[in-house]
Amino acid sequence: MKECLGFFSFWLGACIASFLNVVIWRIPRGESIVSPPSHCPKCNAHIRWWQNIPIVSWLMLRGRCANCRSPISPRYILVEAIGGVLFLAVFLRFGLYNPLAWSIMRIVVIWIWISLMIVGSFIDYDLQLLPDFVTVGGMILGVGVGVINTVLYPTYEGMSMLERYMPLIMSIGGLAFGFGLLWLVRWLGTKAFRREAMGMGDVFLMGAVGAIFGPVAVLATLILSSLFGSLVGFGMILAAKAKLGRFTAIPYGPYICLGCLGWIFYGPELLAWYMGLFK
Ligand SMILES: [Zn+2]
Repeated sequence: MKECLGFFSFWLGACIASFLNVVIWRIPRGESIVSPPSHCPKCNAHIRWWQNIPIVSWLMLRGRCANCRSPISPRYILVEAIGGVLFLAVFLRFGLYNPLAWSIMRIVVIWIWISLMIVGSFIDYDLQLLPDFVTVGGMILGVGVGVINTVLYPTYEGMSMLERYMPLIMSIGGLAFGFGLLWLVRWLGTKAFRREAMGMGDVFLMGAVGAIFGPVAVLATLILSSLFGSLVGFGMILAAKAKLGRFTAIPYGPYICLGCLGWIFYGPELLAWYMGLFK
């Protein structure tokens, strides 16, 4: 049963990521995501359903168009694999427990957020911009879940108002904290470097992280993202010194997403380790 659900999670993630590939390509170009149906950008050949199976088709066609044999970017299979692996990892991490509806909601919310982060990361990497439907969409998702959890929250006699509205307070507080903290970092960075240190999109993105996962997740995401950023930056400097090629800076959005993934999968462990430092 668990294997079945695990496979279903992987396959669902790969199929959704296959659609996200279309979103990543078409939305910044102002094209519709439903029509025209998938076609080869070179020869315009219509892509049949069996040529559009996530991961499998790319491998079977060896990354080439079935009609004109022009290469199809390996990014397609990469995004599909990322989607599959992350959806499976969320299922393995959070699983199904009692109450079942609660577990399913948590998994689905994280799946939706991961899908938005995949789209945001790749569009940000390509064009240095984060679409509003990713950042503002994430904030609405987080506050919406806060409202639902507040309505469903078990109540008891003598419960204080603070406890009663805790899920909603955490998501609105997280949103304000994430937004405010990154806004401050952006303001300080702009003063220090005398140019725009990061875009407002990053500020909105961190607001979404806070709305969905709360204020502590914002701190962890900020620390992890700057850690990943420094590691990659350091690697790029070394690679440039070794003349392995030229590298351009990667925008901050994908690092925020990596940091958030670190929180999703290792949050409690990171927190326990951090608390242990003060014992
Ligand atoms: Zn073609």
